[in-house]
Amino acid sequence: MRNVLTVDLEEWFVVEILSDRFDREQWQKLPSRIEDNTYLLLELFERKRVSATFFLLGWVAERHPQLMKDIVGAGHEVGCHSYWHRRVDELTQEEFREDTIRAIDVIGETCGVKPDGYRAPSWSINSSNIWALETLFDLGFKYDSSVFPVKHDFYGDLNAPRELVRLEVGKEKSLLEFPPSTVRLFGKNLPVAGGGYLRHSPYWYSSMMVRRLNRDGQPAMVYVHPWEFDLDPPKIDGIGMRDRFRQHSSIKSFHRKLERLLDEFTFIPVGTYIEHMNRRPIGFGRE
Ligand SMILES: [Zn+2]
Repeated sequence: MRNVLTVDLEEWFVVEILSDRFDREQWQKLPSRIEDNTYLLLELFERKRVSATFFLLGWVAERHPQLMKDIVGAGHEVGCHSYWHRRVDELTQEEFREDTIRAIDVIGETCGVKPDGYRAPSWSINSSNIWALETLFDLGFKYDSSVFPVKHDFYGDLNAPRELVRLEVGKEKSLLEFPPSTVRLFGKNLPVAGGGYLRHSPYWYSSMMVRRLNRDGQPAMVYVHPWEFDLDPPKIDGIGMRDRFRQHSSIKSFHRKLERLLDEFTFIPVGTYIEHMNRRPIGFGRE
């Protein structure tokens, strides 16, 4: 069973808990950690012979063109993670369109490709702004990976599909939605394969959950961020312990955990997975 591996390529200071703290005009002055942390990931992926999908923040791509070349050169797929990392549910349709076009243009200039996949900042596409998916279709995207079927204080939509599906997004328009993985337990959708959920769980648990998904015929959609691997993260004063824990705990053991996951399971980029499924006449979402 093949699983998919994704990286949301963004700086440490765009995370939701810090979003009120730094204006976008200030970003340029903050210490950049993206190159160190991403090269660490690229080295790990090369060593494990794994290709992933990198959802690129346009703002980052513009400032680190060599890094973009190295990601593409190493054989990874690139997708779009917006230009400014603004929540889609706080934008008008026109603002969303403009931001996405700007990101597509930057990705084209730095990577030489047009992205097929989109991932919204902070999983911020849900039933309230589902128009965003039609905009993505109109801009030429083939798949989206932004709608999290959970309830969380920052994101999520409990009624969203848990499996890879083709969604009608307008008249004769459809888009594939590939949500981050959840396991159905005790009547709830438990997120299992990315971010803090992956970082804070013991390895045996994460491994068991991926096996469980695979047993049900589902690939795990794993997502990580470069800042989760920062062994020397910038110190941030004045944020609460809960938030501090969310961001900094378990960083060291997370390196080892991802490495074990790559050893135990097979991972491919989202685009490759979809291509493989498209060749099969029936049973979309199953392998
Ligand atoms: Zn993000």
